[in-house]
Amino acid sequence: MADILYIVVPCYNEEAVLPETSKRLKEKLTGLISSGKLSEKSRIMFVNDGSKDRTWELIAQLHDSDPIFSGVNLSRNRGHQNALLAGLMTAKERADMVISMDADLQDDIGAVDEMVEKYYAGCDIVYGVRSSRKKDSFFKRFTAEGFYRVMNLLGAETVFNHADYRLMSRRALEGLAQFKEVNLFLRGIVPMVGYTTGTVEYERGERFAGESKYPLKKMLAFAMEGITSLSTKPLRWITGLGFLVFAVSIIMLIYSIVRWAMGATTMGWPSLICSVWAIGGLILLSLGVIGEYIGKIYLETKGRPRFLIREVIDDE
Ligand code: UDP
Ligand code: MG
Repeated sequence: MADILYIVVPCYNEEAVLPETSKRLKEKLTGLISSGKLSEKSRIMFVNDGSKDRTWELIAQLHDSDPIFSGVNLSRNRGHQNALLAGLMTAKERADMVISMDADLQDDIGAVDEMVEKYYAGCDIVYGVRSSRKKDSFFKRFTAEGFYRVMNLLGAETVFNHADYRLMSRRALEGLAQFKEVNLFLRGIVPMVGYTTGTVEYERGERFAGESKYPLKKMLAFAMEGITSLSTKPLRWITGLGFLVFAVSIIMLIYSIVRWAMGATTMGWPSLICSVWAIGGLILLSLGVIGEYIGKIYLETKGRPRFLIREVIDDE
């Protein structure tokens, strides 16, 4: 008996890409079903993340035309990561394995076959890893690759050049369900789930229609989320910095006393004003970083739901 695959696709204002995406995904899935690799209960599950356009109507239409399509409608826009989690948690109840990908098919769907093969070979998590970023704009490539480097430097372990294109078995999803954090950064949490993992390489293409839902502002917020939700290294660095600055001031003090004893008092205005500014800056920076973590703690203690589902359409 072949296993059931759910392909989970978060969608936010994606009416421009949905017709093409659904067509290509359906071809892929029916191909795998007819060759006996997947159960015919397999589905393509679109998650509508509170879109302002006709995305949900399109999803409902697709479902009416073919039960291979199913849909999850969120109560409002909750962001990519939460929408993805909502889809994964809904699919977990019905599927043996789930693949997540973006609605714009920038992730080559050709990698699906290999992911499924690796699943049958015993992998619980298969990461889709980008082999090159030739098609990304210089700016996107630069910021994205810098992002992975900084993340790793700051102690947040992520798989290099892996976004949210991956296969997870039901067992891995059940593990993921036990991570209760509200500050959701899936590509950092999934590696913590463990089990047997594998990777599949693919080329990332361009978005074929519509525009990116990740402008620079959202990317920066996402990077901040990733760092502060996975690592406390910045806090430790601040402590280190504090020690360092303190040591420097002690050395300066000794130096001044020695100079004074030798009878050569310096006119200290420039150095004084510099250090006032430098130390003021460091204090503000440190307070900011600490505030960032306290903000996270505040949100976590509230334990707000990460998503609310308005309705699910799926023929089982
Ligand atoms: N997305 C979402 N909610 C949001 C923003 C984005 O569900 O608030 C989805 C979007 O529909 C797409 C995926 O997240 O399927 C990735 O977005 P996009 O392709 O715009 O990001 P990029 O590839 O430019 O980084
Ligand atoms: Mg995209």
